Amino acid sequence: MRALICADIHANLEALEAVLELARQEGVDRLVVLGDLVGYGGGPAEVVERLRAWDGPLTLLRGNHDKVVAGLADATEFNELARASAAWTREQLDEAQLGFVRDLPVGPITFDDYATLCHGSPFDEDVYIFSPIEAKQAFDATPDTLVFFGHTHLACFFLERGGRVGAYMVRGDDGQLELEEETRYLVNPGSVGQPRDGDPRAACILFDSERRLLSWQRLEYPIDRAQRRILDAGLPAPLAERLAVGG
Ligand code: ZN
Repeated sequence: MRALICADIHANLEALEAVLELARQEGVDRLVVLGDLVGYGGGPAEVVERLRAWDGPLTLLRGNHDKVVAGLADATEFNELARASAAWTREQLDEAQLGFVRDLPVGPITFDDYATLCHGSPFDEDVYIFSPIEAKQAFDATPDTLVFFGHTHLACFFLERGGRVGAYMVRGDDGQLELEEETRYLVNPGSVGQPRDGDPRAACILFDSERRLLSWQRLEYPIDRAQRRILDAGLPAPLAERLAVGG
């Protein structure tokens, strides 16, 4: 099975289109989105419609922004930018689109019998995994050997072998990881629509389960158009500016 795995689209239509184009070119068997379809970006309705129209096998998860936009949680944990964009996003979605966001499956869910999919951490979709200590807590919360997560917007992975946890950032677009026996992995594809690892290109992973191979991808997309969409919507300018620097 070959899947394209991505996270944190954040209503960035132009970045999503680059990722969907790669999925089509590669002819993947499944598209996986680890939550945060909306929030921050200027194209929430368009992003929801693109995913609703995807005609291949699709696995979606709910993220913390999706939860707030859908009215399933309040925005008390959010900073000013996130709160403003959540309120604006809710006004942009019609009933069917809001229903789609509200009904997104809650993680963790099991994938292909041995992998866990979650937004933040397997035990809490709102928890961030930045450090080896946080990774250890995540490993302890699931029996699976492979966990895909998002939420931090950083392309990275953690591995656990013999009780020790290592942390690895993935730089550029040639990051490859061959899964080994006796090792557990926590894998973050990075963010499609709002990368925070200094690389502004849209991030995702191509996963080949037979070859046990993960390959990180970074895709150019028209950032200026995504920025224009944010500014034209009257959303705070820093949400547009950060797209150019990936920070
Ligand atoms: Zn996010």
